[in-house]
Amino acid sequence: MQKDVYFFGKGKSDGRADMKNLLGGKGANLAEMALLGIPVPAGFTITTEVCTYFYQHKQSYPATLKKDVEAALKKVEGIMGMKFGDPKNPLLVSVRSGARKSMPGMMETVLNVGLCTATIPGLIAKTNNDRFVWDAYRRLIMMYSDVVMEKAAGIEPGEGRGIRVQLDKMLGELKKAKGYKTDADIPADELKDLCDKFKARVREVLGKDFPDDPKEQLWGGIGAVFSSWNGKRAVSYRRIEHIPDEWGTAVNVQAMVFGNMGETSATGVAFSRNPATGENKFYGEWLTNAQGEDVVAGIRTPFPLNEATKGDQTRELPSLETAMAKVYQDLDKIRVRLEKHFKDMQDIEFTIQEGRLWMLQCRIGKRTGTAALNMAMDMLHERLIDEKEAVKRVSPDQLDELLHPIVDPAAEKTSAAMAVGLPAGPGGANGQIVFTANDAVEWAKSGKKVILVREETNPEDVEGMRAAEGILTARGGMTSHAALVARGWGKCCIVGCSALHIDVHAKTMTVDGKTYREGDQITLNGTRGRVYAGKLPMVSSTENPRFVAYMKIVDKFRTIGVRTNADTPDDALKARSFGAEGIGLFRTEHMFYGKNSEQPLFLLRKMIVASTEAERRAALNELYPFVKKDIKDTMAVMDGLPVTVRLLDPPLHEFVPQRADERAKLAQSLGISADEFSKRAEALHENNPMMGHRGVRLGITYPEITEMQVRAIFESAVELVKEGKKALPEIMVPVVGSKSELVHQRAIVDAIYAEVCAKYGVKSIDYLYGTMIEVPRAAITADKIAESAEFFSFGTNDLTQMGFGFSRDDIGGFVPDYVEKKVLPVDPFQVLDQEGVGQLIQIAIEKGRSTRPKLKIGICGEHGGEPSSVGFCYRVGMNYVSCSPFRVPIARLAAAQAALAGGAPAAKKAAPKRAAKPARKAAKKSTAKRRR
Ligand code: PEP
Ligand code: MG
Repeated sequence: MQKDVYFFGKGKSDGRADMKNLLGGKGANLAEMALLGIPVPAGFTITTEVCTYFYQHKQSYPATLKKDVEAALKKVEGIMGMKFGDPKNPLLVSVRSGARKSMPGMMETVLNVGLCTATIPGLIAKTNNDRFVWDAYRRLIMMYSDVVMEKAAGIEPGEGRGIRVQLDKMLGELKKAKGYKTDADIPADELKDLCDKFKARVREVLGKDFPDDPKEQLWGGIGAVFSSWNGKRAVSYRRIEHIPDEWGTAVNVQAMVFGNMGETSATGVAFSRNPATGENKFYGEWLTNAQGEDVVAGIRTPFPLNEATKGDQTRELPSLETAMAKVYQDLDKIRVRLEKHFKDMQDIEFTIQEGRLWMLQCRIGKRTGTAALNMAMDMLHERLIDEKEAVKRVSPDQLDELLHPIVDPAAEKTSAAMAVGLPAGPGGANGQIVFTANDAVEWAKSGKKVILVREETNPEDVEGMRAAEGILTARGGMTSHAALVARGWGKCCIVGCSALHIDVHAKTMTVDGKTYREGDQITLNGTRGRVYAGKLPMVSSTENPRFVAYMKIVDKFRTIGVRTNADTPDDALKARSFGAEGIGLFRTEHMFYGKNSEQPLFLLRKMIVASTEAERRAALNELYPFVKKDIKDTMAVMDGLPVTVRLLDPPLHEFVPQRADERAKLAQSLGISADEFSKRAEALHENNPMMGHRGVRLGITYPEITEMQVRAIFESAVELVKEGKKALPEIMVPVVGSKSELVHQRAIVDAIYAEVCAKYGVKSIDYLYGTMIEVPRAAITADKIAESAEFFSFGTNDLTQMGFGFSRDDIGGFVPDYVEKKVLPVDPFQVLDQEGVGQLIQIAIEKGRSTRPKLKIGICGEHGGEPSSVGFCYRVGMNYVSCSPFRVPIARLAAAQAALAGGAPAAKKAAPKRAAKPARKAAKKSTAKRRR
């Protein structure tokens, strides 16, 4: 038969710490503490299964529950030496919720259950403290009428008209009228009088008497806690935290101990180590003569736990360490014991009743990224945990926190965001608003810190983006141009912030009717997508040697490679310092944005608007040295590591200049009229550029473009080898949908290969030829494609775009609604859609490896740096993931954690053997290889 009630107390427990699903976190840990012999007031837990039953059976209980509760209550009475409802020696209990996963403050609690006209005199006589008893009674009335009689009964009073608010007001009025500073100043007789008034008000407002029968109170409390699982707060919290509705909450009924029995009583909350810094110092707050809610509710300023953690504002307050030295020592011993047992930082609640310490709760404490890292390393050195556990202890998101300066969380807590957008580039930034890229550059030159605010960004903005501290756009998604570029630079960026109304001419932006002007200060939190008015302080992420040591351990458990998406030597260098093991995506077209791009951009434009092959070849010849230099310099930095160079994939129209002076200059250089230029530019216009003349399609219509790039790659590689370096280029063809496209391009590659070998007198050049898989057709014909590709790299930005049919540049208009209305769980451009796009990936991997078993497979879409997507990439057997430089450590950690979680056929980190291809017979040999 199913067991519904689990007892705990005095060295004995029916449950254990590993029974959280059944007993909830609080119940399971109370059971464990009791087993450890730690002083826990005796009690029992009604399981989460009863909660499920309760909701499945019109809010009723299993038939045996009453009997089981009574039996458990008897045991509690035995251990505590008191009796529930007894007029002489009454036991009071607390009734609290406790779900599998902590849902702080989301459900209800009732304390002091069992106080009634019959038990009050007995408790007064026993404690010799009438003030304490009346105070406990007024708390019971306040909590019970609110939680049981109002909320659980489904009464929804108007804002500010709830019974709790009304009773609080009465309490406040009494204090004001009599000049009492705190609740503790109210004498017994006045509290008694207040209790009578409370009960009268309860009757008046709720139309019912406050129950005077302890059993009725107990069952009322139990029902109310179960009901609070479906309270508004709890439901919304579950949505945000993705906690399933079916889990249900447990109910913990536990003997009350009192921190409000006078000056030798107290209550407190503590962390076994500092949750903000990770410092191994006992850290917490306490209050004398108080109940738990007083500490957390902020009614009184709590005292520091010990001398070592006193701050400027708490210097003068008494510490528990000095005020109750013996109790503090006991508590400290329990802290050490709990950490040893649970092997993690504990968040604990305790009560001291007349000098005696009781533990009310322990659970794993929440912590910042810095604290997570420091604790993992400290606990490893203390031999509390092993390396595997240390790797699991820091979440990839927490690592992200460590890599960027962030907005001071304390300042954020006290400020309201003026707008919210998509968190495109993590970290924080503050500065003065500017509305054009030129202004950003100019203001930055004069030493000002600026935030570039744009409707959306285009390549012409890049200088401004570079110069700005942060970027904010009204439109665009996570993979929009602004987001991509910003993330690549590790720059704070928020996109798709549709609440902004930007008037670039007036240089103003309006949000919710409030207008901000050029020069006004704003602050961005790019990790959370929040925009604040004014200048919030930043906290810098310092160079942390512990971080380096930690990442070394992480890599011991990682089985797939982590590369970077980098397009310049600078970025490549940065990524190497973050541990990148190669470049998974070198976007050639990025050399046409940003620093020193003026000349190559001019030549690219010349090439784009050329109307004959001769004109185009002439432009390409001029462009060649720039392309080669960028590729060669980047490969030099990556010496010994593979570099995947993607052939040009520019949305052509983006590169056609808009400014008249630039158009005129180009026309002149091509020797054509302004009219002719406009005609050609217009001809380049596409209705749907993302599915237009891009990627491999360019190389098919204009093979000379592929020729130029491939030559640049091969010549760079040969020259580097001659200079004593190791070059490992991988030529990647983008936007491929069918094998024939790859075969077509391969012929060009083979021809140029032979030419370059002959020119430099070398027999072979080490390289791979492969493709991106970013078009659904490529995924489902991957067996054919793999015959012509030595590697696949999933371009999941486009694969998501084309898989969903969502334009990646326009998702700002609807994807946030999808997410808000739960039509989609998350933005699929941020977190890989494993169910749909993921299937395309799995099919492609399976099919690809069916014709080429050693096919090397990676990912270079933005998902390559998103932790849950990295886990997926590991599980489906990819060889590596590739992401922007700043996300490399995050991907390393996510990959290691995925490997530790196991359960998947992992791919080997090592790439398949690269065969250097002999020069002349290259085409033939590689055809043979392809057939294999
Ligand atoms: C992709 O589509 O995932 C990709 C990496 O290419 P891009 O973002 O440049 O289109
Ligand atoms: Mg793409």
